[in-house]
Amino acid sequence: MISIDGSFGEGGGQIIRTSLALSLITGKPFRIFNVRARREKPGLQRQHLTAVLSAAKIGNARVDGAEVKSQAFTFMPGEVTPGEYTFSIGTAGSTTLVLQTILPPLMIARAPSMLTLEGGTHNVHAPPFDFLQKTFLPVLNRMGWPVEIELMRFGFYPPGGGRLNVLIEPAEKLNRLEIHERGEITRMCARALVVNLPLSIAERELTIVHERLGWTADEMQVEATTNALSRGNVLMLEFESEHLTELITSVGERGVRAETIAERAVEEANRYLSVDAPVGEHLADQLLIPMALACGGSFVTSLPSLHTTTNIEVIKKFLDTEITTRPLSGERWMVEVKRKG
Ligand code: ATP
Repeated sequence: MISIDGSFGEGGGQIIRTSLALSLITGKPFRIFNVRARREKPGLQRQHLTAVLSAAKIGNARVDGAEVKSQAFTFMPGEVTPGEYTFSIGTAGSTTLVLQTILPPLMIARAPSMLTLEGGTHNVHAPPFDFLQKTFLPVLNRMGWPVEIELMRFGFYPPGGGRLNVLIEPAEKLNRLEIHERGEITRMCARALVVNLPLSIAERELTIVHERLGWTADEMQVEATTNALSRGNVLMLEFESEHLTELITSVGERGVRAETIAERAVEEANRYLSVDAPVGEHLADQLLIPMALACGGSFVTSLPSLHTTTNIEVIKKFLDTEITTRPLSGERWMVEVKRKG
């Protein structure tokens, strides 16, 4: 049985999700201890527990010791069964992170799956729905994985209640992924979304984008919807370039001024633009599993994050894969994924 120290590296939820996904794919059982030991509230939170139980459901697995706050549990995978599933987190925990867990095993299954996931759709420290739609899934599609996603209702902290549907079809032909250049940036667009909140919040965010990035009115838009259980706000900065689209998001938080939310996005955008590397920090850690399962490949990114380096170590525990990172000139890094055998 593979033994995982959950306090290793980033010491967060991603270690659990990667272990679950790859355990289902390889059929290798694992035991994890020190679960999320580096987080303020260690142990399994609802989102992570839903990931464990969802993985167990689709993979007919036996789980020992997983409940809210558990600091250790054992996962013994069975056979993955594609099909129709609904998983509800019951809080605003991130639906996209639950998807990060069960997507890889369902992607490599031989029949389609239809998923409905309920909870948060736009969370701090997780990929917002739009990031999956604009940035992650187009790259996944390019590798040959046909996955589509649809937002039915927004889910924000604290009540959650968002819903997304996911359609996963079996891949026919898989491709190596090579992303070395960003190419020309062909379009930039800022979208400030308010959900059951005054339009002025979105307008104040876009004023900051205009002041700091110099974007003009036709590159910015205010969007408003009431399709959620609660209020919510998110600012999205989209960079469409020749070889991929990067989406930088900043989710509104109660008690944090609209200007601060916008400043956070602007800072991240400036970091992305300051290094001539196409793959952004978050996409980098999320591409590793699909690449290891497809034909490998390589991409250029900025200094690999702790999420990326931790994910590499967890992947190596389950798969016979070589993943290397090496510095190039000008703060650019090459990440290479090679399947062995
Ligand atoms: P924990 O509280 O244990 O850290 P977690 O389950 O939220 O829990 P992390 O281990 O921090 O998870 O992993 C967060 C994941 O969300 C990573 O894959 C990271 O790349 C992704 N992510 C975080 N913020 C963004 C963002 N703004 N855009 C896209 N992806 C993001």
